[in-house]
Amino acid sequence: MDDNNSIFPKGEKASAAVFTGTAYVNMLVPDKDSVYNCQVYDVVFEAGARNNWHKHPGGQLLLVTAGKGYYQERGKEARLLRPSDVVAIPPGVEHWHGAAPDSEFTHIGISPNTQKGGPEWLGPVTDEEYTEAAR
Ligand code: MN
Repeated sequence: MDDNNSIFPKGEKASAAVFTGTAYVNMLVPDKDSVYNCQVYDVVFEAGARNNWHKHPGGQLLLVTAGKGYYQERGKEARLLRPSDVVAIPPGVEHWHGAAPDSEFTHIGISPNTQKGGPEWLGPVTDEEYTEAAR
């Protein structure tokens, strides 16, 4: 069943090493030759799925296209996200993003400045942290 209404097809299953639950990543612009120093991808999170705490050396931009989800920076309240919301994440800021417990969630991700390196993955968002974020 795919009631997410994402405009892009679902991609590859995201790595279980750095995601809790099931998510899919469709790499739209891999930029393997570093022509743009920027990657663009569509991410679909099933209900309850989220990525680990992490940071991006070059920053990240999220454009929410479907469903309901959350973005949280370490030490701050989680932000509820709905389609048309935009999140600008500065370089080095520790955070996570993912679906609400009762809804799928889709965002386009943009990773600029990839010459500065890929994401630095940290520990999982615990069930306690997630429950608190989704309250
Ligand atoms: Mn991120």
